[in-house]
This record gives sequence, C-alpha cells and structure tokens, in this order.
Amino acid sequence: MFIEIEGIDGAGKSTQCQLLKDWLDYIGVESIIVKELDSTDFSKQVRNVLIADIMKDAHAEMFLFLSCKCQVFSQLIRPNMAAGKIVIGDRGSGSFISYNSSILGVEKDVLMNLLEMCSLGDHPNTTILLDVSVEIAQERIGQKNGQTRFDLVGSEILQKQREKFLELAENSMDWATIDGSKSIQDIHQIIKDYVVKFMGET
Ligand code: ADP
Repeated sequence: MFIEIEGIDGAGKSTQCQLLKDWLDYIGVESIIVKELDSTDFSKQVRNVLIADIMKDAHAEMFLFLSCKCQVFSQLIRPNMAAGKIVIGDRGSGSFISYNSSILGVEKDVLMNLLEMCSLGDHPNTTILLDVSVEIAQERIGQKNGQTRFDLVGSEILQKQREKFLELAENSMDWATIDGSKSIQDIHQIIKDYVVKFMGET
C-alpha cells in the first residue's frame, strides 16, 4: 500500500509521517517513509543543486524534480510495495501537481502524463491532505531549525498551493482532508483511524 501525506510547508507532514511509521512499527506492520529529495543518494545530490539556487529556469527545475521522482519510484517505492510494506510518501504527486500548476502554470494533464511516466502507474492508494492556513504554516516554519530555500516560501505561493491542494482533494475520491490546525496527537489519531478503515476496505 502507498499512502501519501500532503500539505504546504509547515502543515505537519513530516511529524505525522513519523508518528504513522512509529505506530505501524508498534503494531508490527512494516513501512518506509519516502521523501523525494532526501531518500536516495541521487535525490540528495539534486537537493544540493536546488538549494544552491543555481538553476535559473523553473521548467529545468521541474525536470530535475521529475528525475528524482523516477529514481525514487524505481529504487524505493516500487520494490517496497512489492515487498508488502506500506510506503508513506512525505509529499509526492500532489505537491508536484500543486506547485507546477499553481506556480508554473503547467496544464494538469501534462503533469499527470509526466507523473505516469515516473510512476509506471503506481499511484498512491490514498492521499491525506493536512490543511492549514498560511498563517499557521508560517508560524510553524519559523520554529523549524535548518531552514533552506524550500522552507522560505512566500505567503502568496503558499496560499496558491493551499488552494490547489484543496481543489485536488475536492476533485478526487482518493484524497482525505484533515484539519491540520488540530493538535499533533489529535491528527495522529485521525490518521490512524483513517488508515485502519482504509486497510479494512482494500
Ligand atoms: P512539514 O513537514 O509539513 O513542513 P513539519 O512536520 O516539519 O511540517 O512541522 C513543522 C513544525 O511544526 C515542526 O516544528 C513541528 O513540530 C510543528 N508541528 C507539526 N504539526 C503540528 C501541530 N499539529 N501543531 C503544532 N505544531 C506542529
């Protein structure tokens, strides 16, 4: 099974991915967290290039992200799914569509085709959107250590991404939206209940 956790920066994705993984460990279900820009040696190199801010073409940047995505699918997502593990995506296709359509203005159909190329059809079974206001997200990002240019996104961009995420969630049966302004433990409980129900249905 492949579960993606989505939301704007500061929504609480990494926190909830880790709590979900810890709980799955506790109940004896094997899982792995996949973070596109961190999880393979290749993506770490790509991350360095992106952080260095030397790419001056937004579309080139998009293709670099895509190359990372291909690598993550072939190296981690596909083999771990095949091994029966739950793959927890800390961001993924949703962020790719949200960012590139709302900020770069690339057509959703084009983006879907590009994603299909990378994933070879291995889509998330479900995507959990942690929805928070830009104000809450920025307050939380401000408290985070080790900020990079990815953590320093302006409020206008975050707002556009939030709206695109909500639109994606509204138009897709596979998405569930959770109020990300709740406490960490409340959200964890909602995610656990959702995952249990989802596993029972699939
Ligand atoms: P993301 O991965 O979406 O950028 P993080 O999980 O890294 O977000 O969380 C960003 C910051 O907000 C961290 O300092 C984290 O401890 C804090 N945080 C996460 N979820 C909540 C929450 N529900 N309420 C309050 N603070 C939170």
